Amino acid sequence: MHDNVSVIGAGTSGLIAARDLAAAGIATRVYDQKSRLGYPPKASGIISINGLESLGIGYRKAVTNELFGANIHAGGAVMKVMSRKPQAHVLDREKLNLVCYEEAVSAGAKAELGTKINDDMLEELHRSSVLVGADGPLSAVAKHFSMGSIERYTLTYKAEYNVSVEDPRAVDLYFDNSLAPKFFAWACPNSKDVLEIGIGIDGRHGNSKAAFEKFVRMKDIAGRIAGAKMLDGYASLIPMQTVRKVVDAKNEVVLVGDAAGQVKPTTGGGIVFGGNAARMAAKAIAGYINRGDGLGTYEKLFRKNFGLDIKLHSFLNMIYSSFDERKLGFMINAAKTLGFESFFANYGDMDRPSVMLKRFFLRGLAK
Ligand SMILES: Cc1cc2nc3c(=O)[nH]c(=O)nc-3n(C[C@H](O)[C@H](O)[C@H](O)COP(=O)(O)OP(=O)(O)OC[C@H]3O[C@@H](n4cnc5c(N)ncnc54)[C@H](O)[C@@H]3O)c2cc1C
Repeated sequence: MHDNVSVIGAGTSGLIAARDLAAAGIATRVYDQKSRLGYPPKASGIISINGLESLGIGYRKAVTNELFGANIHAGGAVMKVMSRKPQAHVLDREKLNLVCYEEAVSAGAKAELGTKINDDMLEELHRSSVLVGADGPLSAVAKHFSMGSIERYTLTYKAEYNVSVEDPRAVDLYFDNSLAPKFFAWACPNSKDVLEIGIGIDGRHGNSKAAFEKFVRMKDIAGRIAGAKMLDGYASLIPMQTVRKVVDAKNEVVLVGDAAGQVKPTTGGGIVFGGNAARMAAKAIAGYINRGDGLGTYEKLFRKNFGLDIKLHSFLNMIYSSFDERKLGFMINAAKTLGFESFFANYGDMDRPSVMLKRFFLRGLAK
């Protein structure tokens, strides 16, 4: 049994795992192919406040905006879900990565940046350490150890525009399966003078940049960014399913974050699930090294804590993915008539649909 850990990938999930491992007294080394972590900013940073708090990171330095709610557009209808208190923050992803990096290093983790880990290096590290695969959606670790491939991806494209944002408290989400098949498009105020426009499309439906160009020509969006300067645009991808297994106990390998597909299939958000899974993985590895507990504890903990919510997110994604514009518009109008705008504003939980369902039924019983 090895007594030290190599973490492959210094995104938020890898760094959170490295921080918790080092804090538990385990010799930990984290590798990343990039020298400048979190750059380029290919992903957005809308993260629930509850979720951020659960990660135990000093995220406040990275906050660029507070979100109180969302305007959900579909089939010509709009549902406005606005809370009295902020529900989520928008974070600068490069700064968030830096915060996580500093925390990992101050806890005692060593970092080797600018080092791409290939198959030969993986074999070498595997001979001397427990491995944490935190190397993102196209994980070389998951592939090398045959831990289950991810077949479903969302392809994304996003760009920022310098504009004065009319209402920086709300993100706009556009559901339209002919424009953004099986996902959605968004306009998010990253701050009061930067608007991020983005789109995700099902991986089998072609080109996310072409879909983005169509989206920014839509009247609503074109009007908001008219005459504005577009900053750099980026394409990327989001895994839409979890891998078959997150632990290979025999080879002493675990996967965390996008490498394991620990992402909400409704929104593509992966920081909260991936970061919490990284914490569970670190705890299980520390138990394994310090007390000889089984590494499989991580698999059990992850499935127990997030299994149901990931299934519910997948189910919701499947439902709206199968509706055409007319049905989506009808659903939005029906939800408004049934009072769901205020229910979501008061009882919504953007990470955990299971918590929201519980609140829904408890409220029903309390009536
Ligand atoms: C357009 C878009 C919008 C998003 N919006 C949100 C959002 O609003 N909220 C949210 O919570 N999530 C969002 N996500 C998802 C979120 O970005 C990911 O879930 C999160 O970044 C996963 O973190 P990670 O550390 O697991 O992986 P990554 O951030 O992908 O980090 C993996 C790291 O591994 C390194 N690496 C890869 N291969 C190797 C190798 N062979 N050797 C060495 N290093 C390697 C990479 O350089 C990278 O630094 C979005 C994603 C996209 C694409």
